[in-house]
Amino acid sequence: MEKFDCIVIGAGPAGFSAALTLGRARRKVAIIDNGTNRNRVTQESHGFLTRDGIKPQEFKDIAIKELASYPSVSFAKETVIEVNKDDQRNLFLVNTSNNKSYSTEKILLATGVQEEFPLSQIRQY
Ligand SMILES: Cc1cc2nc3c(=O)[nH]c(=O)nc-3n(C[C@H](O)[C@H](O)[C@H](O)COP(=O)(O)OP(=O)(O)OC[C@H]3O[C@@H](n4cnc5c(N)ncnc54)[C@H](O)[C@@H]3O)c2cc1C
Repeated sequence: MEKFDCIVIGAGPAGFSAALTLGRARRKVAIIDNGTNRNRVTQESHGFLTRDGIKPQEFKDIAIKELASYPSVSFAKETVIEVNKDDQRNLFLVNTSNNKSYSTEKILLATGVQEEFPLSQIRQY
């Protein structure tokens, strides 16, 4: 099982920023994201200096490209379904929907928030 210094769950602005800082400190980091960021429905995102008006997906693509310069940082498109603590080894065990398991010393939750619509079919409008 691959072992990391930190697993960042969620690749929005928060998770990417954390991973960048950890990568610069040469920590072995995995960012796991399932692409359900709340702002995925919008065409333009405003107010972030140098990226005003950018599409959320373009913002993500740039972040993934920038992080590729840091060899200790990896990105996986998966859903984290379970996190358990191994108290004996003082590690977290992370399981994903692709049946992958990772171990890590630290977990960083950057999962944002999700809308809960009163009617599920409303989302498509
Ligand atoms: C319609 C809309 C328009 C917006 N417009 C603007 C704007 O113009 N300017 C602005 O500054 N802000 C805007 N926002 C707010 C902005 O999107 C949020 O403040 C920002 O995205 C929060 O960043 P985050 O990293 O905390 O979370 P998010 O960007 O939501 O990222 C969380 C990530 O966690 C991942 N995740 C969650 N659970 C799991 C799991 N179990 N396994 C794997 N991955 C998981 C999701 O896929 C997601 O990518 C807008 C929001 C919405 C909804």
